[in-house]
Amino acid sequence: MRRPSEFRASTAGFWRPADRARLPSERSATPETGPAGSLCQSGRVHVRARKATLALAEPFTIARTSRRVQEVVRVELEHEGVVGLGEATPVYYWGETVESALGFLSAEVAAALGDDPFALEAIGRRLAARPGEQAAKCALDAALHDWIGKRVGQPVWRLLGLAPTGPPTSYTIGIDTVEGTADRARRACGFPILKVKVGGPDDLARLEAVRRESAARIRVDGNEGWTLESARELMPALIELGVELVEQPFPAEDVESFRALRELSTRLPVLVDEGCRDLASVAPIAAYADGLNVKLAKAGGLREAIRMIHAARALRLRVMLGCMIESELGIAAAAQIASLADDVDLDGHLLIVDPPFAGLGFKAGRVTPSSHPGLGVRPAR
Ligand SMILES: [Mg+2]
Repeated sequence: MRRPSEFRASTAGFWRPADRARLPSERSATPETGPAGSLCQSGRVHVRARKATLALAEPFTIARTSRRVQEVVRVELEHEGVVGLGEATPVYYWGETVESALGFLSAEVAAALGDDPFALEAIGRRLAARPGEQAAKCALDAALHDWIGKRVGQPVWRLLGLAPTGPPTSYTIGIDTVEGTADRARRACGFPILKVKVGGPDDLARLEAVRRESAARIRVDGNEGWTLESARELMPALIELGVELVEQPFPAEDVESFRALRELSTRLPVLVDEGCRDLASVAPIAAYADGLNVKLAKAGGLREAIRMIHAARALRLRVMLGCMIESELGIAAAAQIASLADDVDLDGHLLIVDPPFAGLGFKAGRVTPSSHPGLGVRPAR
């Protein structure tokens, strides 16, 4: 039986064999699982979408899940001899998977894309009219930006009128034993900011261990794992330890707990992650939190993320730019707009082994896009 990667779908909906050699990024040494992808044609624009599996250096545990690998969706967009690449990680807590992303791209790309990869606003509008599958939209949006940058010979950050350098990134310490957390904090000595995942019984002991081992700035992320009572109880100790902010302490739908926490006379800033999706999320969040975590995989790509950041600024919200676990290809898209954020959390590529892409810089704690055209990354081998 032929794999889907060996076929091409036309806008008329029939399949025929693909007629070109595999592109360099398809030869990645990153472990691949399942179908290698499918290729859709929209006029003269060809789009190939496929699954890749990233192996993590260590088990990654947060309040609601633990994982050793991360599946991502990759998109290649080819037009006029130029290939743009994009990658995104499906938001599992919204029910998205790589398979659902590939299904969406197979079904919708031809109608959504049109003939002109420069027409980002129109393409984005057509994609937004189709519900869900934000990671699929994000990977396509990233490939479009990469294509445009390569086509005109400029890095995306420059096309957007931005500086390449943003604030330093935090580095994530997943949930572990107290001793394991201390060890992870010791090994993260090159990072000026640590984001400690919490939501377990040893939260305070783990944070005290991090403080003993590291002079880094500390942020905590509950991933919806706390109750209002646990947050109230821990707040004085968090302040004492010098923690900067608390991300998503409560379930996204538990807005009342966020409101109640605001009533504390002394508290830390609270940012919303899981409860923040796209532009429509921003104004409601201003009513119950102090900031939000913008992620391209949730927003559906760079353009919506930029709109969210500007809306958040107008509402005086603190803006964190975050990520999922992604390779340098996925992180590179977010890195293009890091200079717009107050806080940066772009460490997903640092958690994987055998990286399939290279090109991002890392200096003085900052993840910096290269000056090469497009997203500025290349296959690592
Ligand atoms: Mg988070």
